[in-house]
Amino acid sequence: MAVSSVSEPATSATTTAVPALTIRHLTARYRQIEALSDISIEIQAGEQVAVVGPNGAGKSTLLKAIAGLQPITTGEIRVFGTERPEPNTIAYVPQRLQVDWRFPVSVSDVVLMGRVGRIGLFRRPSRHDRELAQRALERVGLAAFADRQIGQLSGGQQQRVFLARALAQEARLLLMDEPLVGLDIPSQDEIFRTLAALRAEGVTVLTALHDLQQAARYFDRVMLLNRRLIACAPARVAFTAANLVATYGGHLHLLSDGDGLLTVADTCCDPTPDRTL
Ligand code: ADP
Ligand code: MG
Repeated sequence: MAVSSVSEPATSATTTAVPALTIRHLTARYRQIEALSDISIEIQAGEQVAVVGPNGAGKSTLLKAIAGLQPITTGEIRVFGTERPEPNTIAYVPQRLQVDWRFPVSVSDVVLMGRVGRIGLFRRPSRHDRELAQRALERVGLAAFADRQIGQLSGGQQQRVFLARALAQEARLLLMDEPLVGLDIPSQDEIFRTLAALRAEGVTVLTALHDLQQAARYFDRVMLLNRRLIACAPARVAFTAANLVATYGGHLHLLSDGDGLLTVADTCCDPTPDRTL
């Protein structure tokens, strides 16, 4: 794995600005289960961070907590310095299997929903809103699909519709929960191309992922999570044997590539097969 080619995290020039995300001593509990335990992290504006860890590590809980969809037990989450960010600051793309794809709504409607926070619920979208939605669809390569029902699209296209919604929303923090599950390689590449476009715009991205090589290749930092935070650093720093074992226990294959670098494979969780609910 080319961990040596991992890009640097945000430069020191950005570290004086308000962080995109500050989490302090976050604990989240479901009745008896402590899903997240004393998590503290800071993510700078414009950083792209992958969240990895085995099933049940708390990845989804963390993303939902940041999106304000999941009550936290103790601790603090600040987005761009505030505990009460404007609704359109954050775009949250749930796991595909949590979405009811039979919902009879067109692709352009889904993207326009990204404008609701700015338009207000009971006002009609303006021409500007529609143009932004159309431009967002063009940028993810789906302009021709605007009038299709969302349920008619492939898994990769559906994920890109949600990315387009985030673009139309002009969100500054994008949270994605396992966006690559069930996608073929071209669809995965399309998602990474869109992430690169978001990088150019300074959008901060936090993505739960299963594939450690993709995490190392495409993201500034990798957050290793298993209920508690093991590391949050560039992959070549985070992916030590000790950190990987702490995160995955025995579910991981560690191989040296001869340069002292580790090649890793998460064998614990086969990707969920692509299926439409
Ligand atoms: P991941 O996304 O990393 O697989 P989750 O955040 O979904 O992890 O889950 C973390 C832990 O919290 C798991 O033990 C899971 O069983 C538990 N959990 C998640 N959602 C709920 C829920 N709604 N009610 C009770 N327990 C939950
Ligand atoms: Mg999850």
